[in-house]
Amino acid sequence: MEIRLACDIQKDSVVDGPGIRTVIWTQGCPHHCKFCHNPETHSFKGGKVVWVSDVIKEIENSELQDGITFSGGDPMMQPIPCMEIAKRCKELGLNIWCYTGFLFEELLEKPDCVEFLKYVDALVDGKFENDLKSYSAKFRGSKNQRIINVKASLKKKKAVCFREYIVK
Ligand code: SF4
Repeated sequence: MEIRLACDIQKDSVVDGPGIRTVIWTQGCPHHCKFCHNPETHSFKGGKVVWVSDVIKEIENSELQDGITFSGGDPMMQPIPCMEIAKRCKELGLNIWCYTGFLFEELLEKPDCVEFLKYVDALVDGKFENDLKSYSAKFRGSKNQRIINVKASLKKKKAVCFREYIVK
């Protein structure tokens, strides 16, 4: 199985979720948020196509990572290959974060995305809204974006946010 990535996977990030993380930058995003920081990741023809098995091998060989973060681009445009990677990461004991421009409620209508979500611990959802840009909103660009407890949310079929990240 293949996945389209924007670039090589990034190790040792401390800004894309808690702890030291490996970030998988997927290529392709339909949202076109104004002032997006990664416009080069929007094209569905850009980046590079790699084997999911090679991504997994690289993660298996990484040391000292607390978790994996899927970012982009929008990982929810490639839910099945992301799910395959996430599934292996769970076996390795890594926690999984995922950024998306979709809302959790929209993803509930997409069966493949729900399958991927079953392996995700925290979902940062919603488009980047420049008018709501905030430096106090930890791990996200704007206040409208929620950090969702995916396990609890799938159970309740509605978004449940992690309390510690709620912006007042
Ligand atoms: S969802 Fe993310 S990558 Fe896509 S346009 Fe918005 S900020 Fe950029």
